[in-house]
Amino acid sequence: MMEKKKTEGQELAEALLWKDPHIAKDAPEQIEEARAFCEGYKKFLDKGKTERECVRYAVALLEEKGYKPFDEAASYAPGDKVYLVKRGKSLIATTFGTEPIEKGVRINGAHIDSPRLDLKPAPLYEKDELAYFKTHYYGGIRKYQWGATPLAIHGVAVKKDGTSVDICIGEKEGDPVFCITDLLPHLAAKQNERPLKEGLRGEELNLVIGSVPYLDEEVKEPFKLLAMQLLNEQYKITEKDLVRAEIEIVPAVKAVDVGLDRSMIGAYGQDDRVCAYTALMAEIEAENPAHTTVTVLTDKEEIGSEGNTGLDSDYLLHYIEDLAAIFGVPARKVLRVSTCLSSDVNAAFDPTFPDVFEKQNACQINHGCVLTKYTGARGKSSSNDASAELMAQVIHILDEEGVYWQTGEMGKVDEGGGGTIAKLVARMEIETVDLGVPILSMHAPFELASKLDILSAYKAFKAFYR
Ligand code: MN
Ligand code: MN
Repeated sequence: MMEKKKTEGQELAEALLWKDPHIAKDAPEQIEEARAFCEGYKKFLDKGKTERECVRYAVALLEEKGYKPFDEAASYAPGDKVYLVKRGKSLIATTFGTEPIEKGVRINGAHIDSPRLDLKPAPLYEKDELAYFKTHYYGGIRKYQWGATPLAIHGVAVKKDGTSVDICIGEKEGDPVFCITDLLPHLAAKQNERPLKEGLRGEELNLVIGSVPYLDEEVKEPFKLLAMQLLNEQYKITEKDLVRAEIEIVPAVKAVDVGLDRSMIGAYGQDDRVCAYTALMAEIEAENPAHTTVTVLTDKEEIGSEGNTGLDSDYLLHYIEDLAAIFGVPARKVLRVSTCLSSDVNAAFDPTFPDVFEKQNACQINHGCVLTKYTGARGKSSSNDASAELMAQVIHILDEEGVYWQTGEMGKVDEGGGGTIAKLVARMEIETVDLGVPILSMHAPFELASKLDILSAYKAFKAFYR
């Protein structure tokens, strides 16, 4: 068939206007590539439902690829690979570059904590012949989404003698799961009148853990006692050990394909393990990068990057100081010429809820990784707001490698907003911009991401480390 000749206007529009394409239309061959890539991602999601589990699994992958624990007293050559674990909950991995360190490092920071329910320090109780754990939610959740859905218990308890025990119930085939009850519609007339944010209240997020008592008429709380006895049999812990613990309640579902076309992944914790996994793969595959890489999988982002495993502490600064010292270079010389991708998810345009988005500036699934110039709320408050120069540099890297990317703004102006680690890295004088994956139902127990976008993020991170 003869190609229809383009009009002058069409040619002009092609030269002057821009719109990011749908990847499946523009490069359908990537569908199979994305499917294959995401098999490893699903495994990562299932192996890492807490920050500690993510660190453990990531370290196993790194060691398998020859990474060695970082030694600040050692000397390193281009291509050497090291990692550093911070308190079991954050991780840094590096591949030394061919350029001297004073040319700056390339940082890719993603977070591995996700919204969830934590056990309170004194969680165990019984009420009207049921045994429960009390919880306190962590991060921004919509509480009503956590009722009447299967949940698993993950965590660690440190015993009196200093030894610790990892706890995980609800993941293995045949394991019991747990849940938070909700009212039946027949009796929910009054509850239905509550505002949605109070559909379930914080103090109603109580986890059912048992319904059979310890058989002894003399025991005051037999339902509580039996639950503790069962935990003790399995983990040799007592109620007091629950104070010396970090126990997280997470959805018990596994990562699965979504859609008749299997084009998406549904799972818990894709914010931000989708960037953590893609960043980790790019790190592992970096061979003789020009700039030394610093891949950070960090904790506590969902509660403001607080604490000494979050990026509002100085652990990343100290690491870069240690790297610089190895080469006898002042750290600030490295920092001010370094670049960082703050790799975090953005809210994908949702056709069912179009009102909260400004469609032209919202990211869409299957349009590629999303470059987010600024986050924040109410006039970019608390935003990093990347410079035009850095946007140009990153867009150049993506275009050079043919990576599909789009821009994204989280929701309409004045609709709400959110933040990332970007401003905390930028505080060190590092050039920083957000780049990540569009997510539907972000922060829900079951989040959606497109395989093509996940592949794009991975390709972006690979290009950044070239
Ligand atoms: Mn995030
Ligand atoms: Mn988040």
